[in-house]
Amino acid sequence: MTTDAGNPSDTGSRTRLDLRSDCARCVGLCCVAPGFTRSSAFAFDKPPGTPCQNLHGDYRCGIHTVLRERGMSGCTVYECFGAGQQVTQHLYEGRSWRDEPAAARGMFADFWTVQTLHEMLWYLTEVLTVRAAAPVHAEVAALVDELSGRTDDLDALHTVDHLAVPGIVGPLLERAVALARPTGPAHRRADLASRRLTDLRAADLRGASLLSADLRGADLREADLLGADLRGADLRGADLSTAYFVTPSQVASALGDPTTRLPHRLGAAPAHWT
Ligand code: SF4
Repeated sequence: MTTDAGNPSDTGSRTRLDLRSDCARCVGLCCVAPGFTRSSAFAFDKPPGTPCQNLHGDYRCGIHTVLRERGMSGCTVYECFGAGQQVTQHLYEGRSWRDEPAAARGMFADFWTVQTLHEMLWYLTEVLTVRAAAPVHAEVAALVDELSGRTDDLDALHTVDHLAVPGIVGPLLERAVALARPTGPAHRRADLASRRLTDLRAADLRGASLLSADLRGADLREADLLGADLRGADLRGADLSTAYFVTPSQVASALGDPTTRLPHRLGAAPAHWT
């Protein structure tokens, strides 16, 4: 992937959208709105719309530092793409589901919609940093403005059919990556679970299952990982530094270590990669 050394000047504000979770500015929405079922990822059942038993009054998780040890690894791989603080601070101006129970249901629905939009913005703003995708930058920038504008106002947000948005964004991402990605192995939506793979440079892995795949030392530069399932994949020593459309959730659900190279925008490696 060829990226600009700095972001293009006309896209700078867009690439600085707040698209990573900031729990300190949220009211624990991801610990209340979703439900989960007892499994290898969650130690107990929780119905949707009810506060988790570990959520404290200050909206902090009481077992944050020992989630994996307590059987709650599902919490450590979750990423709201900044929807939590956008809904809490901006759309609801600091109000909480706890103080206004009548508004809770609407607040949770808005959280899901904003999360979908923010995830799409995560991908679109990445395209804006890819020099080779310049022919679609204007179109991408317009869509970024449109989607981010919808997350700025409740009335505008309520006009969004969030289930339809990925179907609008997906083809544009497809065109963008086609401009930038060299031809590589074709594994789109392939079942590669538990496989040992190393030569994945510029691979099309969109929607592929890489569950528990052995990718130690793999070359994943310029690979398209949109929607790929990396749960349990072993990325120790792998190079994803210029892979496309990698998310914090994908990385957190995989195994890795300090030798794993991640895209710069992801920042620090997951805490459990030691
Ligand atoms: S265990 Fe902690 S992070 Fe997970 S849902 Fe409960 S309060 Fe939230």
